[in-house]
Amino acid sequence: MVNEYDYIITGAGCAGLSLLRSMMQHQYFSNKKVLLIDKVEKIANDRTWCFWEQQPGLFEDIVYHRWQQIDFYSNDFSARFDLLPYEYKMIRGIDLYTTVLAEAKQHPNIDIIYEEVQSVFSNESYAAVKAVDKEFHAEYIFNSIFFTDWKQQALQQKNTYVLLQHFKGWMIETAENIFDTPIATFMDFRVSQGEGTAFVYVLPVAKNKTLIEYTVFSEEVFQQEKYNAALENYITSILKIKEYKILHAEFGVIPMTNYKFSKGNNRIINIGIAGGDTKASSGYTFQFIQKHTAKIIDALLHEKNPLLTKPFFEKRFNLYDSILLNVLKHKKMSGDKIFAQLFKNNSVQIIFKFLDNETSLKEELKIMNSVSLKTFLTAAIKEIF
Ligand SMILES: Cc1cc2nc3c(=O)[nH]c(=O)nc-3n(C[C@H](O)[C@H](O)[C@H](O)COP(=O)(O)OP(=O)(O)OC[C@H]3O[C@@H](n4cnc5c(N)ncnc54)[C@H](O)[C@@H]3O)c2cc1C
Repeated sequence: MVNEYDYIITGAGCAGLSLLRSMMQHQYFSNKKVLLIDKVEKIANDRTWCFWEQQPGLFEDIVYHRWQQIDFYSNDFSARFDLLPYEYKMIRGIDLYTTVLAEAKQHPNIDIIYEEVQSVFSNESYAAVKAVDKEFHAEYIFNSIFFTDWKQQALQQKNTYVLLQHFKGWMIETAENIFDTPIATFMDFRVSQGEGTAFVYVLPVAKNKTLIEYTVFSEEVFQQEKYNAALENYITSILKIKEYKILHAEFGVIPMTNYKFSKGNNRIINIGIAGGDTKASSGYTFQFIQKHTAKIIDALLHEKNPLLTKPFFEKRFNLYDSILLNVLKHKKMSGDKIFAQLFKNNSVQIIFKFLDNETSLKEELKIMNSVSLKTFLTAAIKEIF
């Protein structure tokens, strides 16, 4: 038996739940039949999202902590920056999952089921989801599930750079009140750069509680012991903390690649990491998911197919991402030196604007010039031709 819906959202993670929450906030969708399908019920705090923002966002009500200043550290340059008009914000995975799923249960037009999705299919007139023993049809499917191994495919393509951003975070509690809660360490490069670009985030959420995240850009992930040793070393040598308790740990891997993730086809719209919403040169995804969600909602409200073509200006930013990946991959300049130059010679506001793909061409040339025009122009010429 085939079950019919207006929209099906495959994957109840960040992208699926951002879209569902946006739909619930528009009257237009109140009489649309929506199905959300995931293989597991989201009951664990499996990730923490941090991002910068100027205005209240879709998840303002569940922001767990926010910072008004950030510290940047490297062996060449260190400084503190005021973020205004931005704030750096943190949202806990569990808060996002439980809030959106509880809201969805109040909407009789939304069904939620927990089953493994085996495949999605679409032609010009409908889209279909195949689960283990059921099939569902809809006008559109919004899909955040990978059905193939993107990394294997990317590695087979010429001129495609494949780096991974891999990280382990510990939420620790200290005996003393030692943290400044309005100040986050955005990047601390004073750790070994021997196996890739590596840095640490320190994100205090209380005077005696902080998330510390050790992050590496490299081709392969490490054994867990290596992240643990790096975290221990940072806590004792750099933060000079002797006694602490680990309250929670999280681990993640995000693609940093100029591989072209499929946007979807016909009536399937890929969203989230699977839809290419990750910024290749930074790994930041959360805010790009929010932007993509807003575009999808706008298209649906105007009864247009949300499988949008990319505006030209985004292609320009894809080129910048490829240039940075080229420089890192070929070790033309190390990541810590690039970021040190970037922070030394630009305001944090312009850096955030650039990483959000929102700067003008004039601002971008100034940014490139502030790092090393020669290195970046050589890489740019290679990427263009
Ligand atoms: C630990 C961690 C921390 C991160 N921190 C940040 C951050 O601070 N800032 C930032 O911008 N980005 C961050 N990211 C990157 C990105 O924002 C997240 O990965 C985000 O969750 C991506 O959203 P998504 O919807 O694409 O994927 P997911 O949130 O992973 O959702 C995919 C969903 O699909 C489901 N699924 C998979 N296969 C199937 C199947 N066959 N059938 C049914 N369901 C299936 C999964 O259960 C999951 O619920 C982080 C990532 C991780 C892993």
